[in-house]
Order: sequence, then structure tokens, then C-alpha cells
Amino acid sequence: MAPRHGAVEPPVGDKPRNYDQMAGSRRLLRRLIEVAAIPLEPQERLDRVVRMIATDMVAEVCSVYAQRAGDLLELFATEGLAPGAVHRVRMRVGEGLVGSIAATGQVVNTADAQSHPNFRYFPETGEEIYHSFLGVPLLRSGRVTGVLTVQNRAPRHYSDDEVEALEVIGTVLAEMFASGGLVDPKVYGYIAGLRRESYRLEGTRLVEGVAIGRAWLHEPQIVINRLIAENVGTELNRLDLAVTRFRASMDELVERPDLGSGEHRDVFEALRMFAHDPGWVRRIRETVETGLSAEAAVRRVQEETRLKLGHVADPYIRERLQDLDDLANRLLRQLTGQALHHDPSDLPAETILIARNLSAADLIEYDRSRIKGIVLEEGSRTAHVTIVARALDIPMLGRVDGAMAAADPGDLLAIDGDHGHLFLRPTEDVEQAFLSSIMIRQERRRILETQRSLPSVTLDRVSISLSLNAAFLIDLAHLDESGADGIGLFRTELTFMNRSRYPDLPAQTDYYRSIMEKAGDLPILFRTLDVGSDKQLPYWRTPTEENPAMGWRAIRMMLDRPIVLREQLRALLRAANGRPLCVMFPMVTEVAEFEAARALVDRELDRLDRDGLPRPERLQVGVMMEVPALFWQLPAILRRVDFVSLGSNDLFQFLYASDRGNPQLTDRYDVLSPSLLSFIRDLVERCRAAGVRLSVCGEMASRPLEAMALIGLGVRHLSVTAADLAPVKAMLRSVEIGPLHDYLTTLLELSDHSLRGRLQAYALDHGIVLPPGVYRP
Ligand code: PEP
Ligand code: MG
Repeated sequence: MAPRHGAVEPPVGDKPRNYDQMAGSRRLLRRLIEVAAIPLEPQERLDRVVRMIATDMVAEVCSVYAQRAGDLLELFATEGLAPGAVHRVRMRVGEGLVGSIAATGQVVNTADAQSHPNFRYFPETGEEIYHSFLGVPLLRSGRVTGVLTVQNRAPRHYSDDEVEALEVIGTVLAEMFASGGLVDPKVYGYIAGLRRESYRLEGTRLVEGVAIGRAWLHEPQIVINRLIAENVGTELNRLDLAVTRFRASMDELVERPDLGSGEHRDVFEALRMFAHDPGWVRRIRETVETGLSAEAAVRRVQEETRLKLGHVADPYIRERLQDLDDLANRLLRQLTGQALHHDPSDLPAETILIARNLSAADLIEYDRSRIKGIVLEEGSRTAHVTIVARALDIPMLGRVDGAMAAADPGDLLAIDGDHGHLFLRPTEDVEQAFLSSIMIRQERRRILETQRSLPSVTLDRVSISLSLNAAFLIDLAHLDESGADGIGLFRTELTFMNRSRYPDLPAQTDYYRSIMEKAGDLPILFRTLDVGSDKQLPYWRTPTEENPAMGWRAIRMMLDRPIVLREQLRALLRAANGRPLCVMFPMVTEVAEFEAARALVDRELDRLDRDGLPRPERLQVGVMMEVPALFWQLPAILRRVDFVSLGSNDLFQFLYASDRGNPQLTDRYDVLSPSLLSFIRDLVERCRAAGVRLSVCGEMASRPLEAMALIGLGVRHLSVTAADLAPVKAMLRSVEIGPLHDYLTTLLELSDHSLRGRLQAYALDHGIVLPPGVYRP
């Protein structure tokens, strides 16, 4: 049989199978399930199970080890080793043969255990007389949760079919462990793989804050109720039928005209290719032959893939393994009839949403008021979904490995977005600590909110204008009471993403009119459509791109589709109906692009005249500074624009050649680096000299420490997410700009990776008000 561990491709078994052995394994499985049904104490049941396995496999020893807190493996039951060793013998993951199986997830099969390099002797067990050793990992949700071993006195190698049989038994045991039928969690506390345990996973902070709620999986989990095959032939037929249907559904999916031709299609093409891979299905068939039901066999092969996922760092291989995992889920849904997606409207109240990744559009579809927090296995700080979560003030963690597998729907979860911790099924004291932290934060926020009406000035009386970033009508609901000076960035594309059809001229005009009416006299900087890259419209076909972030997006796309831009400008001008209007263009790379876009504004103004409609009382047209090349055309661009808005999210990704959506790079570079800050200092000086207003609307402006650096560099207009307005105002009201400016100037020549630590220390020394936790050293 081909090796099943360490290879990425689904292995192909080409050796004849020993059907006697297979029949034996099926018999054993059936008896296992019978024992599970007998009313016994968990320990007694486990003892019976090991006895049964030993007898059936003609082994003198059969033992089960479970993984406990602190990466320890504990002997939970044995037939053949000294009974006194049970619950006394413990080893670290990585220690001894059993520990090495737990560390690597690999089978150990040796005729001479004592001379194996990983062997370690535990005198309590009396195992020195047994020479042959076979151990398999118990796998659950991509993790090793325990180890199952058999031993014999006579030195011999266990056959491939014996290995396979023990692995299959291991699959069933892992499920039985997870359901609590073999061990009592009340007696033993933490046991890996037992659903009720409470533990903590680490991730990356994407949106700060704390939250507590019930788990909801964006893609529902599949529950396997039938573990063993009643009849192997019937089970194989079920599998074949499901595979045929599932392949047809994959073909259909790829052929769908509305799939477009972008990255999305590539993903499905790759999945279809895997779906037709005979090796993968053959592997599942072989597993059914050992006695598992079709769905349990798919799950078992899936667990092998997940285990590899946990050990592979290469992003390309990881992606392929993720594809296989996806595929297994789709096949499981075909077999079990369980749905692929939830209806977002079914979302319960007080939810923590868990997903591998989400698009901004996915998030927008949910009812925000029901989401308390978000946990992603991927995710990055300046991806648009993160920006939307921040705008909605939803604490969010990213890069939480294994979150989807670790949480069951409805589990209590607590998110500490300040430190990047996810508590699964927290204990009562952790839960209480979270509830009181939420209350303290609400109180703190209430106190901060009272600052809204206070002037936005520094200790040395420098006024800083604070505006809000917005994307939806709902963002304007509290503009009046927010104390903000207006909307410094209105991301028009997000409402386009939220629709199933392209909004026509009347729809856009109505929408912009409502926004302007809500804002009253306060100014709004409307950014024209910034689609492409990670902001795709579901109803537009876009070509496949190698590097979409540097691809056909934003103003580039609009200048190639001038009708769309003109319609948007027309809608804005009509909605303004004579009121002042500010418009800005995203991702402008060179002056010529700005001029082309500006010419479209002029054509629309002429059209307005022809239609007898009023021109805006004052029209300001600006540009976003997001592409470094534009910096070297500043004299020319500053002569043409009414304002510049710095989009630090994109600027940073292009300046650092570091994809903002790539989870691998989230913490690699820091915006508080001497180079980015020097760039901003120069931009500030050039804009000031030209008399052109400069604002910052990227995420930097919303983070109090980063905002402190920005005002220290001379920025006087910040546009922030609503939830961050009060903390940013509290910061600036406690700053004296003069000394901060002088200090920052001395730092910009340093060759440090980041100035964060120095700025934190400066803030601490000078009594500058920053939120607790994240921003303090
Ligand atoms: C930016 O790039 O900083 C910006 C504000 O635009 P967006 O995040 O929408 O790309
Ligand atoms: Mg941008």
C-alpha cells in the first residue's frame, strides 16, 4: 500500500487487498459500536474496547493514550500492560514511540521497539518483553487527540492490512472519544478531541475589542451519524452514486455563465480536477471496504489531509490541501444531504461568526446587529472585510488555525481582539471576566462619548479635523451627534457589492440623495467606484488576473468603462441638486488618469446644464494618494486638484510590495516604520506648500497611536471609523504637538524596523491618552 502520510497527492492503493482481514476489521467495528451502546461506565467501556481489539488482532497488548493539557499523553486503558500504569504513565508529545506518533501523526510499525531510535522505557508498564509495536494516531478535526497501540512478544512487522485495520478502528475510537462515551470529562478535565473542553486558540488582532457569543459557522459543519457500513456493497454503491452526482454538480458549477472568469473560476476548476482524480476516490473506496460507512470513510481521508495541513508551511501545498478539504466537505454534503450554506437570515442573536475567510460582501449580507464578533482562519488587517468589520465595530480575529474544526455550532466563544485570543467554551470565571470587561468598556466608551461635543484641539491649541469613513446609509444615522466634521471617505462601491444587480441611474441618484440629506450641511467626500481586486461585484465579469491588487481596478477600470463612471458622476451631480459636492478618484497612478477622469466630470457638468439642472454651488474634485508613482508627479497633480486624501492601506501595500490581503504578511511590516512616516512627512510638506488640503482616510488614521504619529507629522485632517472617533479625539486632546513633532523628526532617520515601541513609550511618558492593552508597550 502506498504511504499515506507525508505525500500531498491522494495516494493510490494498487496492492491486492486481504479480504479476510477486511472482514475481520468490519466485524470488530460492528462489535465496537455494540459496546458503545451498552450502558457502562466510560472507563469500563474503554477497558472492554481495548480487550476486544487485542483479542481480535491477536495482540498481547492493546493500549489507548489520550492527549491531555500541557501536551501530555496519558495511558487511559490497556490490555496486557501493568494495570497499575493506567492514568499514571504519562509522556510528553514527542517523547517515546507513543509521543512521536502524537507529534507527527505518523504510524509507527516496528518489529523491535526497544531498538527504535524514539523508544523510551517506562518501568511501570512492564512492556520490555514486547518486541513488536504498532501505533496509530487518533485523529479528530485535523489534530492528534490520542494514540492507539498494539504490541506482541514475538518480533514481527504488522501487515499493511493490519495497519489499515487499526487506523480504521482509530477513526471510530476518535469519534467515540469526542462524544464522551469512552472517558468522563468531569473526572479528567481537559482531554483533546473531547468537545466540551475549554481552551484557548491564538490568532492575529484584526479589529480590537472583546466579545462573547455563540459560535455560528459561515459554512455549516457536517455531522456524521452513521459510522460503520451495514453492508459494504451497499455502501460502495452509495459512494459511487454520490461521487457521480457530486462530479456532475462540480461540472455544472464550473460551466455556470455567471461564475465569471476570475480567480473564482480558477478555484472551481481546480476543485473539479481533484473531483475527477481517481486516486482520491479509490482511497475512499478502500476505506469503505474496511467497514466504515461512505461518509465516515470520506471523513477519515479528510482527516489525513487535515493532519498534513497542520504540518505544511508551503502556501501552495497548503492551498491544494485546503482544496481537498473543501472537496471532502462537498462530497460529505452530497452523502448526508446536509446544506452547503446557511441562509444569512437564519443567524441567531449574539453570534460569533466563524469562517475560513469572508468577503466584504459575505459580511454585509448578515444582519450586523446579531454579530458580536468574527473569527477567521485566514484574514488580514487591511483586507476589505476587516475594514467593514471595523466600520461596524465588530471585534475580529484572524489567522486562528483550526477555529472551524474546534468550535461546534452554538458553543460559547469569547474573543479578546486586543490580544488575539479566542476562548472556546470558556469556563465560568473566564466568561465572567469577559462580561465585566465588556461592561467596563461600555462605561469607558460612554465617558469617551461625552467628549464628542468637546473641541477637537490639541493641548497646544492646534485644531484637528475629524471626519468619518462611511459606506452605508446607516453609517450616517449618528453623524449629527458624533461630533465629526463630515464624511471624509464614502466608499460607494460597498453598496454596489451589496446588490444582486447593477444600480441604474435613478437608483444611484436616490441613494446619493438620501445620503446627502442625512448629512445635512456636513461635507461628504464621495469616492467613485473602487472595484476590482478583493472588491468584486457579483454581477460583473472580470478577467482572471495574476496580481489583482495591482491589476485592473478602481479608476483604471472606470476609465476603460467610462459609461459607468459617467453614470455615477451624473447621479452624484443630480443628487446634489445645487448643493456643494466633493468627489475623489481612487488608485490614480499618474496625472493623465486624473485629467481623463476630471474631463468626464466636466462633460457631466455640461450635460447638467443642457438638462437645465443646477450645478453644485461648489464642486471640489480630489485624488487619493495610494500609488507611490503619483508622488513624483506632485507638482503637476497639486495644481489640478482641490484636495488629496491619503489611502494608507493601499499606499502601504504598494510601497512595501506587500499584499494587504495576504495573511502571511499581516505582521511583517509596520505602518509606523521610518520609511512610510518619511513619505507622509514629505507629502504633508508638499501639500502645505501648494496650499492643498491633505487628509488621511486609511486605517492608520483610526488607530490612536498611528493617528498620533500622523498629527505629529503635520496631518490636520483625519477620517476615521465611527467607533474610533472618540479614542482618537481623546488621544489628540491630550497631545502637545510641538514636542511630538520635534521628537518624531529625530526618529525618521533611524534604521529601525518600526517606531511603534518608541512612540508607545513617548505616549506613556507624556500622559497621552491611548486605549488600554493594544497600544501600550
Ligand atoms: C486605502 O487604500 O487606504 C483606502 C482608504 O481605500 P480602501 O481601503 O477602500 O482601498
Ligand atoms: Mg484603497
